[in-house]
Amino acid sequence: METKVWKVDPQSPDPKAIAEAAGIIRRGGLVAFPTETVYGLGANALDKNAVRKIFSAKERPAWDPLIVHICDLSMLEQLVDEVPEQFHKLAEKFVPGPLTVVLRKKPVVPDEVTAGLPTVAVRMPNHPVALALIKAAGVPIAAPSANKFGRPSPTTAEHVLQDLAGRIDGILDAGPTHVGVESTVLDLTKSPPTILRPGGVSKEALEEVLGEVEVLQKLPSEVEKGLPSPGMMPRHYAPSVPVILTDGDASELVATIDRLQRHGYSPNRIGVLAPVGWLTDIEGVVVFNWGVWGDWHELAQRLFEGLRWLERQKVDIIVAPLPPPSGLGLAIRDRLIKASGKAP
Ligand code: AMP
Ligand code: MG
Repeated sequence: METKVWKVDPQSPDPKAIAEAAGIIRRGGLVAFPTETVYGLGANALDKNAVRKIFSAKERPAWDPLIVHICDLSMLEQLVDEVPEQFHKLAEKFVPGPLTVVLRKKPVVPDEVTAGLPTVAVRMPNHPVALALIKAAGVPIAAPSANKFGRPSPTTAEHVLQDLAGRIDGILDAGPTHVGVESTVLDLTKSPPTILRPGGVSKEALEEVLGEVEVLQKLPSEVEKGLPSPGMMPRHYAPSVPVILTDGDASELVATIDRLQRHGYSPNRIGVLAPVGWLTDIEGVVVFNWGVWGDWHELAQRLFEGLRWLERQKVDIIVAPLPPPSGLGLAIRDRLIKASGKAP
């Protein structure tokens, strides 16, 4: 199939393009669209045949559930059994935004969306294009990230086309996304509420609203065995070349690059996600200027761009420093650790 590209203004998208894309969604097709986190690959969440197409386009295993995107709270009520008080408290601050909540689902939500789980993950994205598309379609839109399964998530329409051109009906191209890492997935059916995937809203920010919040700790032994259950993928968000990680300081990064060279890697085949000013003494390696260390927003925004760019430079290995595990740093760490294939 040919993938149609609609270039739209991120703030006020052309209603004709939105109507055309929404028509495709209503007729059971697949449209990729921008959100504030990454690009999503959308289908009518209430149409199981449409949802199945997402899994085949992405080559995504059926056991990995999808997030359902909504444009107002009445859509939430269509999908879930009960909206808890905790959700309303969170909504004041983080909805719309990069926060996904997991709640008990109504029967209308197909098993294809939830991988057979009794819960559904729901989010209202904070992006005018995403909101306009959902509103025009008039149905909730199931959308995982618009990449082939296991690959770094797409933060531009070009990234989506690298993975999915010819496999989807269309893409709304509104330029690069702002947050750059996916939403935080928070399970509100657990007590205390539990973060299943760190993302755009930090644990600390959630705790200000909810009190105690846990972060799901996966058992390393199970991860090593690669158990096929949601969120337990040992290698994910990964470029096609190996990724190795260092502690988050300049001397560790430089020492690792030196060690790789002693092991026979030629400098022009070593790619580095390099914070500004960290590689002044190193020559010849392939550098992606990642951003200012400590500016976690910028580093999150440019993370997947960097991994995909380095991969295209045909390096043999990618080296990256790990941010500290707080704030947005936790989400960046999670993605880098999964990209490297190490157990979290
Ligand atoms: P992505 O495909 O990158 O958008 O990620 C969606 C992720 O949301 C999945 O991989 C799961 O980790 C999580 N998720 C979606 N639905 C559920 C659910 N019902 N329960 C737990 N996690 C979920
Ligand atoms: Mg994904």
